[in-house]
Parts: sequence; C-alpha cells; structure tokens
Amino acid sequence: MEAITIIGGGIAGLALAAGLDRDRFDVTIHEQRPGLPTVETSLAMWPEAQGSLAVLGILPEIRAVGATFGGMALRDAAGDAWVSPEVRGVLGVSRADLIRLLGAAVPRNVRRAEGKVDDIPATGPLAAGLLVGADGVHSVVRRAFWGPKANARLTPYVALRGILPVPVEANAGGEYWGRGQLFGITPASSGRTYWYASFRSELGPAGVGAAEVLARARERFDAGAPAVRNVLEQATPESTLAQRIWTAPDLGSFVRPGAVLVGDAAHGMTPNLGRGACEALVDAVTLAELLNTRPVGEALREYNRQRLLRTRLLRVASSAMTRLALAERAQPLRDRLLRLAAR
Ligand SMILES: Cc1cc2nc3c(=O)[nH]c(=O)nc-3n(C[C@H](O)[C@H](O)[C@H](O)COP(=O)(O)OP(=O)(O)OC[C@H]3O[C@@H](n4cnc5c(N)ncnc54)[C@H](O)[C@@H]3O)c2cc1C
Repeated sequence: MEAITIIGGGIAGLALAAGLDRDRFDVTIHEQRPGLPTVETSLAMWPEAQGSLAVLGILPEIRAVGATFGGMALRDAAGDAWVSPEVRGVLGVSRADLIRLLGAAVPRNVRRAEGKVDDIPATGPLAAGLLVGADGVHSVVRRAFWGPKANARLTPYVALRGILPVPVEANAGGEYWGRGQLFGITPASSGRTYWYASFRSELGPAGVGAAEVLARARERFDAGAPAVRNVLEQATPESTLAQRIWTAPDLGSFVRPGAVLVGDAAHGMTPNLGRGACEALVDAVTLAELLNTRPVGEALREYNRQRLLRTRLLRVASSAMTRLALAERAQPLRDRLLRLAAR
C-alpha cells in the first residue's frame, strides 16, 4: 500500500480521504481541531461542488440538511434592489454539517492523528510517501515545500458571520453594497437566516474578538437598510465568527516532489464569490480520482494541469469582486453604473 499523509482534516482533507481507494492507499489525516466548528456558519455550494459531493456519495444527505437559495438581490446600502437574479441550483449548507457528513464518508481504515503539525521534518513518517497539504490558507506544508515567499497574505478586510434562529425577513435576501462595506442575508437550513458582513479593518490579524467587531459593524451599518440593522441587533458575540481575511499567493504549481496542495492551502482566495470550499471539494475529488487510477507522478501532473488555471481565474475574479463590492472612492460611480445596468 502506498502511504498518503494528509495535513488538515477540514473540507479538502476529509473529501480527499473519503475519495481515495481504501485498498490501494494507507492514509493518515492529521487534524488540530478537536471537534466540529462551534460557531455555526453557512457555505454556498455551487452545482460543481454538489457534483463532487455526489461522487463521494453524500449529496442526498447534504441536500436533506441544506437550504435552497431564493429571493436574492444585489442591493444598494439602503436596501433598494439593483438586480434580482434567479439563483438556481445553489445550496446553503452549514459548515459543521458538511464536515460531519464528509467525516462519516471517510473509510474506517484511515488513521486519524489529533493535534497540530508544527513543521514538516525532512525524515520520519511525515516524509514517507505523498504528503498532502489540506491545511488551509496558513498551510505548514506550503511553507515547508514552497518556502517563506509562499506565506499567506493579509488583506485589509475583516469578515464576520453567523446564523439567526429566524427566517429571512420578506424582501431582505441578498447582498447590500455600501461604501467600503458589504452585508449579506441568505436562507440557512431549518428556516433560519445566515448573515455575513465585510469591511476594511485593522483588527487582529489573529484572534479578532467577535464582540468588538460586532460593535463596529453596528456603528458602520447604523445608517443603512433596516433589514441589516435588524439582523445585527439580534446577532450575539457567541453566535458570531469574526476573522481577518487572508489569501494564498499564486504558486505557479500545486505540486512539489513528495507534496501536493489542495483547497485553501493551494489557492486561498477572498470569499466574495463564495467559491473557496466548493473548489476545495473539486480539488479533492479530482485528485482522489486521478490517484486511484494512475501512477502517482502522472496523477499529480494531471491534477496540476486540471486545477491550476481554473482556480487562478477564480482567485482573480474573486479579488476583482472584493474591490467592486468594497469600493470606497469609486462607490458613487459603481452605484450609478449598477443603477443604469439594472434599467
Ligand atoms: C467569510 C467567509 C465566507 C465564506 N463563504 C464561502 C461560501 O459561501 N462558499 C464557499 O465555497 N467557500 C466559502 N468560504 C471559503 C471557505 O471557507 C474555504 O475555502 C474552505 O474552508 C477551505 O477548506 P480547506 O479544507 O481547504 O481549508 P480549511 O477550511 O481552512 O481547513 C483546514 C483544516 O486544516 C486544519 N489544520 C490547519 N493547520 C493544521 C496543522 N498545522 N496541523 C493540523 N491541522 C491543521 C484546520 O484545523 C482545518 O480543519 C468563505 C470563507 C470566508 C472567510
């Protein structure tokens, strides 16, 4: 059996472990987080990612716990809709549910090692066989194999998000773009409301306090749409996840001798297209299928060929979307153009 060591048992790592041929590979996953995420948040799952979940055999379970997007609009800060596109085929899935169901799909003979991997020694068990970096945007595998120039990049933005135990208010769904700030309201599972916000902030970069960032958000959105103020009034620090946004640099290749990257470790992008977790799933399923059917070297080359360009385009599109959604000086012009386009 060939040895595969996966650092990171999040979305990408679990999906890869679930997809690998259990008779061919001896798989170990290292994960530092002791259980499921404690603050509930939601992820948009686009059709391609749902295709990957179908390959792993868990799409029906995901659909059963997910929420269908509907009544979404792109709005100005006051809440007036510029456009109300019909969003088809996108599911909102709780991150905890996704991780739980991916975890349940991992074969029993995959070894689970608990605890943080601090570095990757040149010899020993981690250096034997293929090492997979599925350890997110601050990847220790990327640092070890791609060097310090590949460290994560800090953006000037903070993101906060949470779920409220109430349905989305009528005519409130969608994304609100203001001056240097955005707010999103979408349906979450079990008839609840998922909300998220982003704006420029010097808080952090590590350990951003939910209470402080929530207080800042209430000030910033105070003059905006009533639906946004309502959501922020109901949000509590305990049910809010706050963090600075980091991205991974463009690496030129996701493969080095003995190592390969998947998910945010490979292409961590700004969250404005809602694609990072989706691409992590597609990476994992693509890599698993290639490793299951081809010699390792050929599988890695083909994985790089299939995934590098597409994720590079998404990173660029995502960062362009961030600049547009969080425009400051260009905001009046952006709003005028969007109003014209809507007509
Ligand atoms: C505000 C926000 C909203 C988003 N919304 C969406 C959305 O709607 N749709 C979407 O598709 N994506 C979305 N994303 C992006 C998505 O969260 C990420 O792309 C996704 O989590 C990447 O999955 P991953 O498994 O690659 O990395 P991660 O989720 O970061 O998982 C990495 C795992 O590795 C573990 N780990 C890390 N380092 C070590 C170590 N040294 N030793 C052991 N374990 C380690 C971590 O504990 C973690 O479990 C959003 C992101 C943000 C910030």
